[in-house]
Amino acid sequence: MLRRAIITREQEPLKIINEPLPKVPVEGAIVKIEYAGICHSDLHFIENENSNYCDEEGRGISGITPGHEISGTIVDIGIKADSQFKVGDKVLVYPWAGCRQCINCLNGRSSLCENNPSGSKDVGQGKIIGGYSTHTILPNTSNYLIKKDSIPNDVAPMLPCSALTAYSAVKSLGESLKGNPDGSILLIGAGGLGQWAITFTKSIYPKSEICVVDVNKIKLDIAKNKGASHTFLWSKDANFDCQVDKIFEKSLKRGFIGSIDFTGTSETAEICLKCSKNGGTITLIGLNGGHLDISLADVISRSITLKGVRTGSLETLREVVELVKENRINDVETSFFSLDEINYALDALRRGEVRGRAIIDLTKERYN
Ligand SMILES: [Zn+2]
Ligand SMILES: [Zn+2]
Repeated sequence: MLRRAIITREQEPLKIINEPLPKVPVEGAIVKIEYAGICHSDLHFIENENSNYCDEEGRGISGITPGHEISGTIVDIGIKADSQFKVGDKVLVYPWAGCRQCINCLNGRSSLCENNPSGSKDVGQGKIIGGYSTHTILPNTSNYLIKKDSIPNDVAPMLPCSALTAYSAVKSLGESLKGNPDGSILLIGAGGLGQWAITFTKSIYPKSEICVVDVNKIKLDIAKNKGASHTFLWSKDANFDCQVDKIFEKSLKRGFIGSIDFTGTSETAEICLKCSKNGGTITLIGLNGGHLDISLADVISRSITLKGVRTGSLETLREVVELVKENRINDVETSFFSLDEINYALDALRRGEVRGRAIIDLTKERYN
């Protein structure tokens, strides 16, 4: 039996339904989900904030089971599936496998798939059942699965989303860091992604100094504990330019060779631009409706690179899995909910009342 939460109508609570487990696809697998992350982006999706969701067959969001952060065990596998996987394997699901046919998908850049209207090919955003379910049915194994090995259960669901995005962002600074290996790096936003970024920055650019900016003192204290050299508590009431000057000084007055904006407001992007060193890279991640009014001459004369990063590739997720295994990263704060508590969990997340990452624990589900 398959038990899953579905969207009925936007803005309305999800409904839990039971249905027979379908047959396993010939090249695919059925994964019994053990832990599934509830991502902030799920809230935007469920509420259909852009109101323009439409999959390739013209359907809207009703009937979709959300959730793209999944770890579990293979319980059935197709006869033509990749032979490296077998029943009983503990796996992570890569949610951004795309159409597997366009030029980006064929070149390992499926998170930038060209045939993916409204993200409907992503796990939990269309036909492929997402994490708010006892099982997911994947059409293919090699494009969707990675073995989880020794990664802790509560860390695993975060890897395909927040950790992968943070890692891709940190790696995107590489070209600028090549010429300045001990340059300063600016991270704006000390939430989940920012915290992952500190860990990855220390691992990839061990000589660099990290400065973290946030409006929340508690998050900045966590950032310090994770290895940030400097922190700056931003105040919405204080003078913008004075605060930018103080952040700039944290780079030993030389400017930041790499900056990542996990917040994505007009102000945070402007901080990055003003504090960038010549030849620096600014990577934009956060989606908070910001706009940037920039002087093109300034960007050209200072040789600044502006990049946008969306999640990352399957290959990059493999690197994340290896890095997390090697570093035994397991100090991420989590709150667990059952599948029946899904609407309660979503409301708590909406109100900002969840401590750390919200995770659905499906190990105690009765349809096992
Ligand atoms: Zn996510
Ligand atoms: Zn594609």
